[in-house]
Amino acid sequence: MFFLVFLALLLLFAAGLMLRRAAVLRKATGLPQGEVVYDDSGARREVEEPLLSRRYGLVGRPDYLVRSEATDDWIPVEVKSARAPARPYDSHVLQLGAYCLLVEDRYGRRPDYGLLRYADASFRIPFTDALRYQVLDAADAIRRARTAPNVQRSHAEPARCRACGYRDGCGESLARNA
Ligand code: SF4
Repeated sequence: MFFLVFLALLLLFAAGLMLRRAAVLRKATGLPQGEVVYDDSGARREVEEPLLSRRYGLVGRPDYLVRSEATDDWIPVEVKSARAPARPYDSHVLQLGAYCLLVEDRYGRRPDYGLLRYADASFRIPFTDALRYQVLDAADAIRRARTAPNVQRSHAEPARCRACGYRDGCGESLARNA
């Protein structure tokens, strides 16, 4: 009898330690409470199909999908290795917005938000109507650009061109003038 009580106490103690560790990990990663079900980040990669929307002509693979305990929705998480900027870059927000739209189309429920996780901070990005329209606009522009004979540069950032893999063949590159 004493042994059974001791064993029960030991199991309770171990469970407490595991819960505490899970809470610390969750805080460190910035992920909301929920089960990680879709992961393409290195060693923990699961073999999953990219999310595809024929309706919107989009395809993409977020780093994670987690289930929100509050709303039961799937929440996309995009992980960036860089340190967090003062505010998330528009391109990152747009990318996350595209994942939110893909999740909406796949699961039939629109997520309230997505998460942008940088090396030292995470941002919760509301999936607003405005962001949804921006994503649809961007997808439309990309579709039109695919068939256009010339595509004009959409920014004035030499650093972006310097880091671009297409700069040598790009007639619009700012890299050589920077
Ligand atoms: S080099 Fe050309 S394709 Fe690359 S970022 Fe600059 S303008 Fe865009």
